[in-house]
Amino acid sequence: MAMVNIHTHRPRPDERSIVTVGLHPYDADRTNGMPDCANIGEDVDGIGEIGLDYACNVGRDVQQRVFEAQLAVAERLRLPIVVHCVRAFDAVMRTLARYRLKAVIFHGFIGSTEQMRQAVEAGCYLSFGERTFASPKTMEALRHTPHERIFVETDDSDTPIAEIYRRVAEILAIDTALLERITNENYDRIFKDR
Ligand SMILES: [Zn+2]
Repeated sequence: MAMVNIHTHRPRPDERSIVTVGLHPYDADRTNGMPDCANIGEDVDGIGEIGLDYACNVGRDVQQRVFEAQLAVAERLRLPIVVHCVRAFDAVMRTLARYRLKAVIFHGFIGSTEQMRQAVEAGCYLSFGERTFASPKTMEALRHTPHERIFVETDDSDTPIAEIYRRVAEILAIDTALLERITNENYDRIFKDR
């Protein structure tokens, strides 16, 4: 079975990834690029990356407006979302709570065990990648994350997805093959009926 790579900037035919459209918080002050209900085709699996990034230079008000507008589109079209969240966890969670979303995937999740629990209780999925291994608190959070909420990603790194799987499986103390099965099941639960 192909490995799921839920968020990659270099899609490969031998991996299961998804096609998303969305205006990244870095670009929230751009005037174009915002998906709307009319221009989203059948080939689109979700809306992303969308979210809040309080470490970048774009104003928080405009980020918030753009995030909310795209959440409304995702809600209306029943599309899963891929969230980019940097130093804005509470604001992102508060905002998400106001929408009925098909599925929420935090990509490149960085956070504490407590934040992981909050996200899991709200029904979110968490995707782990290279940045996880540089963050001891995130590795600890990963150890406790329910398997049915875990994804694995390369994001923009050149590290092969198999290597990320190996390292995530090691932290979880499970076989890589089992981790591959887990992420495939999670993928199917969200995307199979699309
Ligand atoms: Zn991102």
